[in-house]
Order: sequence, then C-alpha cells, then structure tokens
Amino acid sequence: MAEVTCARCGQTKPGLAFAPYNNDLGKRIHASICQDCWAQWLKQQTMLINHYGLNVRDPEAKTMLYEQTEKFLFGGEADQVDTSKQGTIQW
Ligand SMILES: [Zn+2]
Repeated sequence: MAEVTCARCGQTKPGLAFAPYNNDLGKRIHASICQDCWAQWLKQQTMLINHYGLNVRDPEAKTMLYEQTEKFLFGGEADQVDTSKQGTIQW
C-alpha cells in the first residue's frame, strides 16, 4: 500500500487502498489522506448522519456530506469535532 503525505495531519503514513468516492474528491482523498484521518472522518460522518437524520440516498444529503468531507479533510474551517473531547460532546 502506498504511503501518502497526508493533507490533514501532515504525516507520511499508509493511504487508502482505493478511492472512497467515484469522483474527484475520492481521487484527492486516495492521493493525499492517510488511513487514520479517513477513519476519523468516518466516525464524524456517522455522527453527522445521526445528528441530522440524513438519508444517504438523498442527493442533497450526499452533497452535504461531500462538502463536509472536503472541509474535514482538506479545509481549515470545518465544523470539526475536537476528538480530545470525544464522548463529552452533546449533539
Ligand atoms: Zn492524516
């Protein structure tokens, strides 16, 4: 498995085995996000889906999740959950 210099955490670590989405965002994640950061996003995504009651087959929900994915992994201004406080955040 190829190592990537992760765009989120800045470390060089194993990347994903495949692009998680069949679009440009998926390719960017595959090229520049490490497995650890991706795992963190999957947890965050689950929280978002539960919090907003998203139907992941709904195109609007998908669009929102893509935006949140990009913010979380590549953007500095994401609505990020402070993982050091995991378990203490009330949604
Ligand atoms: Zn990373």
